[in-house]
Amino acid sequence: MPNSLKARDKQVIWHPYTPQKYMPDPIPIVKGEGSYLIDADGNRYLDAISSWWVTIHGHAHPYIAEKLYEQAKTLEQVIFAGFTHEPAVRLAERLLGVLPGHFSRVFYSDNGSTATEVALKMALQYWWNNGYQKRTKILAFNNSYHGDTFGAMSVSQRSIFTKAFDEKLFEVVFVNAPAVGSRQSAIGPAKGREQSAVNSPEVFAGSQQWETIPWEEVACIIYEPLVQGAGGMLMYDAEGLDGLLKKCRQEGVICIADEVMTGFGRTGKLFASAYMSAQPDIICLSKGLTGGTMALGVTACTHRIYEAFLQEDKLKTFFHGHSFTANPLACATALASLDLLEEKSCLNNIDRISRQHQAFAASLAKDFPASTKNIRCLGTLFAFEIVQGKDGYLNTISREITEKALARGVYLRPLGNTVYLMPPYCFTAEELNKVYDVIREIMVEMA
Ligand SMILES: *Cc1c(COP(=O)(O)O)cnc(C)c1O
Repeated sequence: MPNSLKARDKQVIWHPYTPQKYMPDPIPIVKGEGSYLIDADGNRYLDAISSWWVTIHGHAHPYIAEKLYEQAKTLEQVIFAGFTHEPAVRLAERLLGVLPGHFSRVFYSDNGSTATEVALKMALQYWWNNGYQKRTKILAFNNSYHGDTFGAMSVSQRSIFTKAFDEKLFEVVFVNAPAVGSRQSAIGPAKGREQSAVNSPEVFAGSQQWETIPWEEVACIIYEPLVQGAGGMLMYDAEGLDGLLKKCRQEGVICIADEVMTGFGRTGKLFASAYMSAQPDIICLSKGLTGGTMALGVTACTHRIYEAFLQEDKLKTFFHGHSFTANPLACATALASLDLLEEKSCLNNIDRISRQHQAFAASLAKDFPASTKNIRCLGTLFAFEIVQGKDGYLNTISREITEKALARGVYLRPLGNTVYLMPPYCFTAEELNKVYDVIREIMVEMA
């Protein structure tokens, strides 16, 4: 069929993260419904990765759709310099009410990458505005991922994703995340893969890699709290991170939590930062923020940061903004998503999914001791490595698993040989069990 959607797509579209030569036919999706994606032939797929980690309440949620429609009929967009509107202010009020720590201001942008760009610019300009010309260094973790724009790439692990641009990326001091147990890099070059010895605040404080850091030159540290997502769903220890954050705070270093993936219940708490006692100065949100309905980014900061921009000198202004800053439609869907998230039934689902994951982790380890490793979970996140071929993003097993899972009505998209689950919270116990069964079947088939 020459006029099929697939054929038309192949004439005009360039897909993200997709080698274009020999690209397999994309699957035309015609409808989303709760936990399911439905294709043009009527096949239903359980969306076990929340459509790239964004869909937290399921697809085409009627409540979010209704709020979106109401907003679209009222005010769809307005310039956000010199104007304001109810959804933006209400959303900021509500976010400040639930964020851990002491945030006082919300800056809006368009997505996760812009949220981290804004955070980095705020942190660097904080020191510039305050006259500390030397505090310009940025700390980030090995295996980190903070987005695909240049600033976000710069603070991300140098990897196959960044290879063509490495020379143009600004300098960042990479250090190991305070690791425990199950670390296995999916994308990093070999030197990013070593196990960290840092696993408690005491060990951290005396650890060699930190002794060489010129703290008085460090502007900020950016980190994905507890789970490094695109780096391979690597999980690390709250105690170790808490120790590191305390040290950074002691040194005056601005702490930037990138909760673009971990925010809004993913890790079992509303925000992963709530697992630590030391809190960030800046937090980045996107992905689940609107329930996955609209693109929206948030960078929230504490009064300490905001104050540095509260000056007579016009040069101390934060000269940053996007055409769609605080888009009313996006803000309205974020408010609707928060309504759903705060319902008891949603919080119960998150707990239930967490418990199901833990039971599955134990049974998978028992039944496939040789072909699985590093089985780990945190909240609604679950991950393990398949022992086959080389570890890493380019491991071709990923596509094979995606195809086998799709044939069984489940959508998975492993990061190389790292298979992970990140279901929307509306997944029922039965739907999740079906996903587990499919993973088991695939493991048996590939053995
Ligand atoms: C996905 C992601 C980003 C980038 O968000 P985009 O909306 O894809 O630009 C940044 N940080 C983390 C931790 C992410 O998982």
